[in-house]
Amino acid sequence: LARLYSPVVTLSGIKVDLVAALVSLNRVQEVLNFKPHIMDRPDARKLPPGQGASVVFSNVSFEYPSSTGLSIPSLMGEKLDKQAPRGPTLDRFDLTVEPGMTVGVVGLSGAGKSTLARLLVRSWEATSGRVLVGGMDVRRLTLESLRSTICVVSQAPFLFNDSIRANLLMAKPDADEDELVSVCRDAQIWSVIEAAPDGLETIVGDGGLQMSGGERQRISIARLLLRDPRVVVLDEATSHLDNATENALQQSLQPYLKQRTCLIIAHRLATVRHADLIVVMEGGSLVEKGCHNDLIEAGGLYTRLSRSIPRYPHES
Ligand code: ATP
Repeated sequence: LARLYSPVVTLSGIKVDLVAALVSLNRVQEVLNFKPHIMDRPDARKLPPGQGASVVFSNVSFEYPSSTGLSIPSLMGEKLDKQAPRGPTLDRFDLTVEPGMTVGVVGLSGAGKSTLARLLVRSWEATSGRVLVGGMDVRRLTLESLRSTICVVSQAPFLFNDSIRANLLMAKPDADEDELVSVCRDAQIWSVIEAAPDGLETIVGDGGLQMSGGERQRISIARLLLRDPRVVVLDEATSHLDNATENALQQSLQPYLKQRTCLIIAHRLATVRHADLIVVMEGGSLVEKGCHNDLIEAGGLYTRLSRSIPRYPHES
């Protein structure tokens, strides 16, 4: 019996490994069988080359499917009732951004601001209405062309577990040292890099987590500056910066953004204050638009937002 003990233990270990392998295999099969719901149409085209590109949301309504595995409520452990009526995330939303124009988008949390960015790069498709870039419906463009035309910088940008240099060169592999230093200066991150013992060779850690939120944001803005998109979306991209740094960054970004069509999504009103146009969203709709002074004078939601958000020393 003692002689049988060891082979039996080995065999049961193999069974455990086999079961684990089968589970993994099923998972791999699931991934291999996964069909992305957003793909190029057979007749998809590239956006013709040109300087700027307009962005138009025309009567756009959108509702997240309640069954999506990515749903925020389901991520938070909340059960989504498929029968429960959920209002549309965007409701007949209209906005035209001319080439070279900067539009600020503000509103309460959950108003649908980031959803605009997701529809623009076709992470999701409008339920009705049309989203146009450079005059072309985004559904008619190849994803490759669409996503090289538009660059979205989000609040929590992802960095690869590699050096700052490698993360920057992903945007422009042939950028030379002077160019890297210059974009890092413009992104207000050079002083941090210069002070680090390994400089540009500093490893950012898994997902960039060895850097602070504000450092990650500035590295991803330096990466944006190395790219040449026609449309830029900054979605809370400077939210972790202190006011003085954000101010300096706004100044240095200005010449870059002036040549591009730009959407700036922000909670902090100072971030959008100098935009050509500010739109205010509530419950998926555009409720106010104008320049900062006009909106303050109108005394509506924008004014209420300006009162509820703490004022900063550089805001008058
Ligand atoms: P915040 O200022 O908090 O970032 P926001 O105005 O950008 O908010 P969105 O992220 O556009 O708001 O979300 C709008 C609504 O859509 C919210 O009610 C949100 O819960 C819901 N939502 C967002 N993403 C999903 C998703 N993947 N699945 C289901 N619902 C979603």
